[in-house]
Amino acid sequence: MSDISPGKIIIVSAPSGCGKSTIINELLRRGEIDMEFSVSATSRPPREGEVHGKHYFFMTEQQFRDAIAADAFVEYEEVYPGRFYGTLKSEVERRCAEGHNVILDIDVKGGVRVKKMFGDKALSLFIMPPSVDELRRRLESRATDTPEAIAQRVGKAEYELTFAKDYDKCVVNDILDEAIAQTDTIIKQFISK
Ligand code: 5GP
Repeated sequence: MSDISPGKIIIVSAPSGCGKSTIINELLRRGEIDMEFSVSATSRPPREGEVHGKHYFFMTEQQFRDAIAADAFVEYEEVYPGRFYGTLKSEVERRCAEGHNVILDIDVKGGVRVKKMFGDKALSLFIMPPSVDELRRRLESRATDTPEAIAQRVGKAEYELTFAKDYDKCVVNDILDEAIAQTDTIIKQFISK
């Protein structure tokens, strides 16, 4: 992607259960910030209610591998064993070239990689839980996961939190409205620079 394209990149990462999607969706819903969501490709199956082309481009593993071979990705990661996720060049390049900003919801490794690629053209933002104990409590109260799955997510979260220092900005999601307001301010400051 050319460095002279006017659009900027906003990268948002967080351990699962930190409210990242809620924050991104609320800012997109308000529509105050000129930014478009980059729809990733994934080889995981759709969850109930997920729409192809809106939440993800759902692909088979073979289709995903073909897209890698065709150099279709800005970055991709095997976020869970056998589950690939990737940022499509087609989602990012055209929008940035047209002067729009693009928001990426991607994992910590992808986030750090994209920040390195785009430097000052990108803002990397990490959403954190108030503490690992609080994250565990939230996952338990959602009651959607087994105790083993919760333990796994918490373990992964502890690992992911070690990447927070590599991000430009961190927002602690303790009170959701405050986290949304802080994220809003940080993004507006970045794109007005
Ligand atoms: P989920 O399966 O819950 O939708 O997403 C799992 C993880 O994959 C989340 O951390 C999400 O941010 C990450 N993810 C989604 N799209 C991409 C992508 O294009 N690249 C990378 N590296 N991670 C992604």
